[in-house]
Amino acid sequence: MCPTRVSLSRENVKGDFVQLVNEISGQNVLNCYQCGRCSSGCPLTFAMRLLPNQVIRLVQLGLQEEALETNTIWVCASCLTCHARCPRGVDLAKVMEALRAIGLRPGTHDRIKPEDLPPETLAKLPQQALVSGLRKFTK
Ligand code: SF4
Ligand code: SF4
Repeated sequence: MCPTRVSLSRENVKGDFVQLVNEISGQNVLNCYQCGRCSSGCPLTFAMRLLPNQVIRLVQLGLQEEALETNTIWVCASCLTCHARCPRGVDLAKVMEALRAIGLRPGTHDRIKPEDLPPETLAKLPQQALVSGLRKFTK
């Protein structure tokens, strides 16, 4: 959920969280000027609690907890539509990947446990989907 009050400060905007996301993703989230073209083209917004550009805004504001708790970073399928539409060249898929990586770091937990997957699901899943899913959802 988006906070109703945001503390805008140089420390947040230039803070450790923004730097870390930029470092892992290889992007500069501060290049985003919130035009919304990424979100208007994203095929998965129906399942996202926050739009992709809203997640970028949270990162820009240094709001780590809010950015990591949204389901958007897990719903993103890395389809790159947003990147193709972004006039500022921001690769949101890489930013989402960086946020997932930060969320899965020590102190957190795997989003899925392979041993919990029912055998009938495992039998039906294409191997590629299984491998990419485990890469995405586990430490
Ligand atoms: S399209 Fe690019 S500049 Fe526009 S809101 Fe999305 S990330 Fe920001
Ligand atoms: S890469 Fe993710 S955020 Fe971007 S359009 Fe695809 S699903 Fe949406």
